Amino acid sequence: MTAPLTPPDRRSRSENLRLAREKGRHTDLEWLVMKHLFKVCVKCRDPGWNIEKDHIRPICIGGSDSVDNLQPLCARCNTSKTLDCTDYRDAALPNWRAEFNRRIAIVLE
Ligand SMILES: [Zn+2]
Repeated sequence: MTAPLTPPDRRSRSENLRLAREKGRHTDLEWLVMKHLFKVCVKCRDPGWNIEKDHIRPICIGGSDSVDNLQPLCARCNTSKTLDCTDYRDAALPNWRAEFNRRIAIVLE
């Protein structure tokens, strides 16, 4: 593992994203399938016209950019989350992962 060039609190968003992508990165397809699967903000269940991609473990504290670290949040929940690392996906949709994998497999067939 290489040491970061800059202390975590001094890194830019693009530097954080670069480091997050080294740990894993999602595809556009994975994000689209996830958004369609949940249909709502997984925290407040607001139906989503303003759903945003939330990194469950924020990339500024070492979270990856893989789908395992993504959840759909509305803009309001995403803005107010700060450094909270709560994963709301299982509570919003139990066994979401199996359905997610099934849909990805269908699309990639
Ligand atoms: Zn919300």
